[in-house]
Amino acid sequence: EPVREIIPVGNVIGLHLKSGLEKFSKVIVTTGGQPKLDGFKWLSDLGHNIVEPVPSLFTFNMPKNPITKLMGLSVPNATVRVQGSKLMQSEPLLITHWGMSGPAVLKTSAWGARVLHELNYQFVAHINWLGDVKDHEVRELIQEVQSASPKKQIKNLCPFELPQRLWDFHLEQCEIISDKPWAELSKKHINKLIEVLTNDQYSVSGKTTFKEEFVTAGGIDLADVDFNTMESRKVPGLFFAGEVLNIDGVTGGFNFQAAWTTGFIAGKHCLI
Ligand SMILES: Cc1cc2nc3c(=O)[nH]c(=O)nc-3n(C[C@H](O)[C@H](O)[C@H](O)COP(=O)(O)OP(=O)(O)OC[C@H]3O[C@@H](n4cnc5c(N)ncnc54)[C@H](O)[C@@H]3O)c2cc1C
Repeated sequence: EPVREIIPVGNVIGLHLKSGLEKFSKVIVTTGGQPKLDGFKWLSDLGHNIVEPVPSLFTFNMPKNPITKLMGLSVPNATVRVQGSKLMQSEPLLITHWGMSGPAVLKTSAWGARVLHELNYQFVAHINWLGDVKDHEVRELIQEVQSASPKKQIKNLCPFELPQRLWDFHLEQCEIISDKPWAELSKKHINKLIEVLTNDQYSVSGKTTFKEEFVTAGGIDLADVDFNTMESRKVPGLFFAGEVLNIDGVTGGFNFQAAWTTGFIAGKHCLI
């Protein structure tokens, strides 16, 4: 039955239910994340500070970008950096039919939930397709391949750990005639290739939740909760657990774990 309001009455906590006011000595609030600040009003009315909720764990939309033609391709380790911020993640990256996803993007969205919200999900993502390989290292590798296999066609000898279709895409992006031999690759094209491999840029416009898996960053300010017991510092006898708190994690079960751990602590101290 939905709780409409919490009314502390002396040493007990009244819950305003459809059936009327019920009184309890202790109450644990586990109502989960709320997309809007309004959803926390009944808890802020009790004096709790609410950290504004914003979505977390989402993928990047790149409408009509030619990279989306490579949907389904993934690279084992790419670095995603958000222009104008300190956000950076090196993880596997997946190209989707709407943009980019995979751990590199999901983790960027989790750590950057608030920053990306402030940018209204409009920003430039810089991709290093080779993870943390530096541009001078790419140049050295290209020089090595040019001297070791000068006659091999560029398209047939990719010296990097990239899927063939992505290699073809990059060559096209750089306007490199891909059936040329490596020896004939000009300085200008080498520079362009290095730039595309280590600092490719994509305009992100909007977000999509990953298989509807998302979590809300924000909620009850942790400063208002005693973490030894999960009891509210504002209303004695009132406890919090789970996503209603300002806790959110990356993918991999961390949100469930946070809910279970805080639930266990709150439950244990309610029985005392
Ligand atoms: C599609 C999806 C997939 C996910 N997959 C993962 C995953 O793989 N790994 C992971 O770690 N996390 C995952 N998450 C996040 C995870 O589910 C949540 O972090 C976790 O369930 C939070 O648990 P909770 O009990 O705090 O809240 P919730 O599970 O949201 O439960 C809150 C409950 O409170 C009830 N409620 C709300 N308001 C009131 C009210 N006023 N009165 C009475 N009842 C109320 C709601 O009806 C609901 O039943 C996923 C989330 C979604 C949406």
